[in-house]
Amino acid sequence: MSKLPLLRLIIALLFAAAAAAQNRVLIPEKIERATVAADDGMQRWAEWKPGKCPNCEGKKKVKCGTCERFAEDATNCIECKRNEKKEADCRMCVGTGELADPLDKVSCPGCLGAGFFLCTICSGGGRLRIGDAKKFGDCVGCRGAGGWKCGACNGARLVEPAALKPSLREAAPKDLAKAATVTDAALKELEAVTPTGGDKARKEVKALVKAFDAAGAVHPAMKRLGKPFEDYMGKIYAGKQFQGSAENEAETMSAVKASAEYYLKHQKRMLELAQKRAEANAKVAGEQKAK
Ligand SMILES: [Zn+2]
Ligand SMILES: [Zn+2]
Ligand SMILES: [Zn+2]
Ligand SMILES: [Zn+2]
Repeated sequence: MSKLPLLRLIIALLFAAAAAAQNRVLIPEKIERATVAADDGMQRWAEWKPGKCPNCEGKKKVKCGTCERFAEDATNCIECKRNEKKEADCRMCVGTGELADPLDKVSCPGCLGAGFFLCTICSGGGRLRIGDAKKFGDCVGCRGAGGWKCGACNGARLVEPAALKPSLREAAPKDLAKAATVTDAALKELEAVTPTGGDKARKEVKALVKAFDAAGAVHPAMKRLGKPFEDYMGKIYAGKQFQGSAENEAETMSAVKASAEYYLKHQKRMLELAQKRAEANAKVAGEQKAK
């Protein structure tokens, strides 16, 4: 074992401001993943000690943020099903109370840990009161379901990281650098799209899918996102008959865009950390050869 002090495993306890307090995310740039120097001078990844999830403080559940947005008398909610306590699985730890090793798992670029695409026509409650109707009817978008299973993670909420050989952990510096370039380019492409919905919606969806596919060259989860996202928006267009539908479409696209951006920034950080380690090890290997 190494005599060097074991570096502390730190997970940044600072959060990006997210809309709902119970769905916070980590600041990707501050995620840390310690290494330890082995006797041969090589840096190895330290064992992952998950610790309590900072979003739910290890409680696994949080107050449901989805049905807060609609009436008290709601009968359904895609996220908590209106259970007694109106609690849902914490999205950050996906209901485990502990954070997964960021070298192995990352929040889904489609749903950011929700597991579903929210029907933004009914806000996830599954019903609508149209026009002068006194009674609620099934939502025209989701037909009462409140949303759809996320197709990028198939409901699993966490996805695999960048696909590198032999793995993100052990990849060579040049491969990590290449993956980082692809990730950066896709982020820039995404940033260039500002969804406005309405007449431009289909064009904007296409531009977003193009950016997702560009990232797909190294990120399998991004590759899986395009088609389900298109299908999702196809359902949201059912709301075109209502006022404010363009804004709603824009917000729906922006939410998925933000999830994808978070995923890419997270991966950019992990690629950076992996590269730092791989380069240090390449240097040690070079010095040992010279001796
Ligand atoms: Zn949690
Ligand atoms: Zn709920
Ligand atoms: Zn709906
Ligand atoms: Zn997902």
